[in-house]
Amino acid sequence: MIELRSDTFTLPTAEMLAAIARAPLGDDGYGEDPTVIRLEKMAAARLGKDAACLMPSGTMANLACMMAHCPAGSTALVGDQSDFLIYEDKGLAGCAGITVRPLATQPDGTLTLSDIERQFSQAKAPGVAVLYIENPHSLCGGVILPGEYIHQVAEFVHSRGARLHLDGARLFNAAVKSGIGPAEIVRDADSIQFCLSKGLAAPVGSMAVGGEELIGKVRVKREMLGGNMRQAGVIAAPGIVALELMVERLKDDHSNARRLAEGMSRIPGIEVDLGTVQTNTVVFRVTDPRFGCQSFIEAARRLHSKALM
Ligand SMILES: *Cc1c(COP(=O)(O)O)cnc(C)c1O
Repeated sequence: MIELRSDTFTLPTAEMLAAIARAPLGDDGYGEDPTVIRLEKMAAARLGKDAACLMPSGTMANLACMMAHCPAGSTALVGDQSDFLIYEDKGLAGCAGITVRPLATQPDGTLTLSDIERQFSQAKAPGVAVLYIENPHSLCGGVILPGEYIHQVAEFVHSRGARLHLDGARLFNAAVKSGIGPAEIVRDADSIQFCLSKGLAAPVGSMAVGGEELIGKVRVKREMLGGNMRQAGVIAAPGIVALELMVERLKDDHSNARRLAEGMSRIPGIEVDLGTVQTNTVVFRVTDPRFGCQSFIEAARRLHSKALM
């Protein structure tokens, strides 16, 4: 059985478990865990930024970055199909006190410049503080945002005194697939979060990355949210292995996803838009009128148990 529901099911490798066992540890609450410090330096360097902060999850990394960008009463612009709005809305509603304006996510994962401009002109003082974008865009099928687009929206929001946050949960998938380095992809972003715990296979953790001052604020938000940790080197050690050994092999995930999508697209009654299968995500629709969502899953389960017998 190959687990295809999500790359979050990946298990730590033998190298990761060994790295945990020998990692030098300290109290990260005091900023004294040498393994955490090493990972944070490594993550910042990989992305060409000044600083990074280890976070317990991508959800907290996004939330802390968005809170750090948004003074009280300000507005955040996010896509209506973004991971942030669809899956991470509890933190927003419960802790952040940020006003969110959803914009229509286009099928290629972008937001139109005219929609962004309209929100800037409509928002009341103190106005729009941050624009959130996602690359690759999860719910659009793992599609990679064009570099020129990121550059354009960054230029626009910066010209209005706002900031750009890039949710790069699978940033390294975009980098490996496009052949464009991660630092180049995030060059215009003021803050970035990426997940160690997805295709990179570390068991826990995400990195918030950005300028020194911003990451200082992110650390305060992390503390507010209860995200400060102690001997977090046990999380950072597999994270270091993830960055050192697991990035290049993401291309295997991409070719496997491609192979799966091409095979599924040949099955009558299943529809796959192969154009969106750019990274490790396959989104398909069951169009066979005999199946609804639930009966398709049940039929697949019956086939699977038969294959096991
Ligand atoms: C998984 C994911 C997150 C959240 O990361 P967690 O570690 O699961 O909290 C945020 N954004 C995107 C695009 C993701 O895929």
